[in-house]
Amino acid sequence: MINFNVPPYVDKAMEYIQECVRNQKICGDGAFTRKCNEWIEKKTGTAKCLLTTSCTHATELAALLCGVEPQDEVIMPSYTFVSTANAFVLRGAVPVFVDIRPDTMNLDEKLIEAAITEKTRAIVPVHYAGVACEMDTIMALAAKYGLKVIEDAAQGVMSSYKGRALGAIGDFGCFSFHETKNYSMGEGGALLIQAPKDVEAAEIMREKGTNRSMYYRGQIDKYTWINYGSSYLPSDTNAAYLYAQLEIAEKMNDARLALWERYYRNLAPLAEAGKIELPVVPEGCVHNAHMFYIKAADLEERTELLAYLKQKEILSVFHYIPLHTAPAGVKFGRFHGEDRYTTKESERLARLPMYYGLTVEQVDYICDMVKGFYV
Ligand SMILES: *Cc1c(COP(=O)(O)O)cnc(C)c1O
Repeated sequence: MINFNVPPYVDKAMEYIQECVRNQKICGDGAFTRKCNEWIEKKTGTAKCLLTTSCTHATELAALLCGVEPQDEVIMPSYTFVSTANAFVLRGAVPVFVDIRPDTMNLDEKLIEAAITEKTRAIVPVHYAGVACEMDTIMALAAKYGLKVIEDAAQGVMSSYKGRALGAIGDFGCFSFHETKNYSMGEGGALLIQAPKDVEAAEIMREKGTNRSMYYRGQIDKYTWINYGSSYLPSDTNAAYLYAQLEIAEKMNDARLALWERYYRNLAPLAEAGKIELPVVPEGCVHNAHMFYIKAADLEERTELLAYLKQKEILSVFHYIPLHTAPAGVKFGRFHGEDRYTTKESERLARLPMYYGLTVEQVDYICDMVKGFYV
């Protein structure tokens, strides 16, 4: 059986975890958390990175830092993971879903302005498959209307837009290090903060509303309760597992990209014959091969394709029931404008196996089976 995903593991991870345990420094904000934060800051050029317990929590922290309040509106795609919306729903805000572009499955930047009202507080672009949203347009709209931009870059670690790292373009960026992502710590994530003025508030909210981070740095003699907050810092053992991967992130990224290119080359004839569609990476976007997907003609064909691949021992999946059609989406959010592509394109999309360690032979086999389905 070819799995859909295998969590990334690199040998150094055991050594680093043992180091944590031996030093009896396993709780949050230890040496490995610091190393991960610094690595991300250097790699992305963000002013400050704070490792978190998940991308979900990073987004919640961003919602708190933006001061999102009940009845505020937050513009986002409906084709995304629930956490994108939950972070704002927890603050009593209303997700306003805008249609996606069929080529990248990202928020259609041309439809955002019409969805902006007096209540709009923020825009949340989701960089689907690690391919960037049209950030120049989104940042210009945010500046024009005084909105915050929170990038859901859960899938975008190591990707860029016109030379700028995803996650480091908006006011806040959120990474995921869940086991299904390119780099993992089991459960984990990171909040990227652009403005130095937001850093102190973020450190306080992440540490249960206390100024413990300043205490640890020796800036104050005792720490105290400063603001509302929660516990968003991961154990250092998890950071140790992640840091082993970050050290060889380029190598892992190159390996994924090689698999992605191979899928693309192998399947190009099917796309040229009009049987399937392949992913689109717009000019100026450098992606990270987070996923390889194809689009079947419609829902029925996709269902048959996935069943066929399963018979051939290949686990291929689809995802994201559009949020506006889910029970909570109906209750908490609304779709602005017409759902031209969100539902239709989501029903066609099938994700093929992609992980660090997948072999070219496996990719060739999978492509042969996809071709076999279409003959
Ligand atoms: C994975 C993912 C998340 C959630 O990440 P966690 O680290 O599991 O909380 C959020 N948004 C998108 C787009 C994702 O792919």
